[in-house]
Amino acid sequence: MDHRADTYIGGRWVESTGEDVIAVIDPSTGQCVATVRESSTGDMDAAVAAAERARPVLREMPPEERAALLDRVAEELEARLGGMAELISSEMGMPRRHCADYQVRTAIRTFRNTALAVRGMDFSERLGGSTVVREPVGVVAAMTPWNFPLLQTAAKLGPALAAGCPVVLKPSEITPLDACVLAEAVHAAGAPPGALNVVFGNGLHVGEYMTRHPGTAMVSLTGSTRAGRRVAQLAAESIKRVTLELGGKSAAVVLPGGDLAAAVERSVRTVVINTGQTCTALTRLLVPFESLADAEQLVAAALARYRVGRSDDPAADVGPLASANQRHRVTDHLERALVDGARPIWAYPDEELPRSGFFAGPAAFAVSDPRIALAQQEVFGPVLAVIPYVGEDEAVAIANGTPYGLAAAVWSADEDHALGVAARIEAGSIEINGAPFNGLAPFGGYKQSGYGRELGAHGIAQFTELKAIQTRAAGAR
Ligand code: NAD
Repeated sequence: MDHRADTYIGGRWVESTGEDVIAVIDPSTGQCVATVRESSTGDMDAAVAAAERARPVLREMPPEERAALLDRVAEELEARLGGMAELISSEMGMPRRHCADYQVRTAIRTFRNTALAVRGMDFSERLGGSTVVREPVGVVAAMTPWNFPLLQTAAKLGPALAAGCPVVLKPSEITPLDACVLAEAVHAAGAPPGALNVVFGNGLHVGEYMTRHPGTAMVSLTGSTRAGRRVAQLAAESIKRVTLELGGKSAAVVLPGGDLAAAVERSVRTVVINTGQTCTALTRLLVPFESLADAEQLVAAALARYRVGRSDDPAADVGPLASANQRHRVTDHLERALVDGARPIWAYPDEELPRSGFFAGPAAFAVSDPRIALAQQEVFGPVLAVIPYVGEDEAVAIANGTPYGLAAAVWSADEDHALGVAARIEAGSIEINGAPFNGLAPFGGYKQSGYGRELGAHGIAQFTELKAIQTRAAGAR
């Protein structure tokens, strides 16, 4: 299949009629590696129409067949793993040696997990005198970010198809290329034409047009809180279903007696892997005041073990930031942190950063005032704030004291105690003592981290409407 023809509509690559061209920049070099034509309104109308034609086909497809389709998509992605990892690495800069695991295998697992989840779901239940059925919500507009481009798409496309909904995908304008390979994989897996359609462009033109489009029943966005606010406003005009997976400023709370060394290792890792461009990164490490000095030493030692390099450097742990804008944002935060009184703990030596591309080295600060920007705003870069607290109530207040509520961690020698603290933290996903991520559990945020949930059966349910049909069956109430 030739994916250079721009827009994937109704199971075919068709020449885009859009005029603007999107340049895809390799963040390791700053060089253009490909161009993609932005979709026109005509292209988008055609994509929505193709999705609408696929709607009855998917709706009639039994859940088991939908599950089998997702398993085949996972197999097709597996067959493209190496190329896909290289492509994502060149689009957004994660070191190649990490890309296969973090970017591609996670997405493959998401398709498989979604297949597993849909096999276990009941799309119909008896409730007194009613039969309650779950029906697909309709055509979905999916808008995805650049930080885990394939994974974030899998977290929408898998559940939408599992629920019987066709999708028009608009990948991030920074990382449009992997969506082309995904479309190839979905095609090769035998998806009905129109089950997936891909359009390209920025949020302002293409994203907003898709959001307003009368043919889309639901908008599923993963991105910044700013974009989420705008999408929610636009969708409100037609009372369209919206799910928003937005930013985070997640706290790791180390309770007295908790494993400080393990907590530091884990938080630092989440902050440097993918150059801190992970929505769930544990960017605030909350430690008892008396442990601050130990925590600082451990953080400095942990950060010093990561090496920054170009994405094709086999020894690199940390790549560049994904774009020039992203680098400006991170360096602005670093400068402002100093003005706001944050005390540097450790910073990657500037002279060891590659000269080309959009690099910013990992850094950590001790923050005594949790109201400063570094401790409130999502930096989306490899920067950790270490914040001391006095007493558990203050720890919980600091953990909850940002506009976000995506993820958190609690570290304690007493797991029951940790569960009690987790119950007080306003976040959608909380790990205790470094417990691993569970791809079948619901994922999403409280507060300005968004609403709606992705992954597993809860994620599939987001793409359904509930219909209650009352009958006069015996025993009905
Ligand atoms: P972004 O908001 O700039 O863009 C995300 C997507 O939304 C892109 O496809 C973009 O084109 C589109 N978009 C932007 N403005 C839009 C508008 N007005 N209307 C419609 N679509 C619009 O975000 P980004 O910079 O690509 O990604 C980084 C952000 O994503 C971070 O804030 C990060 O925390 C968040 N994120 C959240 C999760 C999560 O699951 N909660 C996961 C990954 C990333």
